[in-house]
Amino acid sequence: MDYRKEFVVEPGSKFHLANIDPSSSGRHLSHENAAPEIRQHLDRMAKLQYLLYADAEQSLLVVLQALDAAGKDGVVRHLFSGMNPQGTSVYCFKQPSRLELEHDFLWRTHLRAPSKGNLVIYNRSYYEDVLVVRVHDLAPESVWSKRYDLINDFEKMLAHNGTRILKFYLHISPEEQLKRFKQRLDDPLRHWKISEADYTERDLWPKYIEAYEDAIALTSTERAPWYIIPANHKWFRDLAVSQIVADTMDEMGLNLPATRVDLAEIRRKYHAAELQK
Ligand code: AMP
Ligand code: MG
Repeated sequence: MDYRKEFVVEPGSKFHLANIDPSSSGRHLSHENAAPEIRQHLDRMAKLQYLLYADAEQSLLVVLQALDAAGKDGVVRHLFSGMNPQGTSVYCFKQPSRLELEHDFLWRTHLRAPSKGNLVIYNRSYYEDVLVVRVHDLAPESVWSKRYDLINDFEKMLAHNGTRILKFYLHISPEEQLKRFKQRLDDPLRHWKISEADYTERDLWPKYIEAYEDAIALTSTERAPWYIIPANHKWFRDLAVSQIVADTMDEMGLNLPATRVDLAEIRRKYHAAELQK
């Protein structure tokens, strides 16, 4: 199944997250059954990232957004398990610092946008400025409502500069979130992930969904599409995201750059050096 077609939000389309099943796992029955395909996508990504880095003409930006415990950290770990750390970065955007708040809302993310040849993942992003900011009234509507157009312009500018942009919303159900909160409570290794705000944020679920639906509908474009990924099953979430990333990289026309040196001349030097050993 082509999950790009399946999960993309068509520009200008109306949708409701409530109508999308977060427990879907496509045509796959189980993790075991999907594992070879997941491996294949990771292998493809590894090869393509090598070309992206060598070619150094284009870049890729992956934006991850979701409610708490939906699996953003898991997707980062999964995607990077198939890549060379050289040429990749991940940035987590948390509450802005004072310095960041003294600038425009795109400033801190723009600073970390991928340079040519690089792949960058944003774990949260400038979309928080139309999500948490809207839900918690951190800025007046007159301010956040103008940001959708500003985001579209920003993404257009990045695209003109050779950056492919993929945006993922990891879609989980409230029941699954609660299950994961319990797992965090039960596992001392995950206690650090628990936040005082988890349950107050959870109570705001409908407001977040409304803010996400608007943000996604207003900013899904050909050049920077949104994908809504059913994420109750972690393995399926990883499968769908890696297929979409690998297929997109496949389309980028990545090739090894032409050799810049005179190979015949270099071979002569090599043989001369070998003779002097
Ligand atoms: P976590 O990703 O769980 O470490 O939490 C990071 C927190 O930072 C989340 O509660 C986000 O909503 C919050 N955050 C990220 N960006 C912004 C922003 N621009 N304004 C306010 N809060 C933000
Ligand atoms: Mg959190």
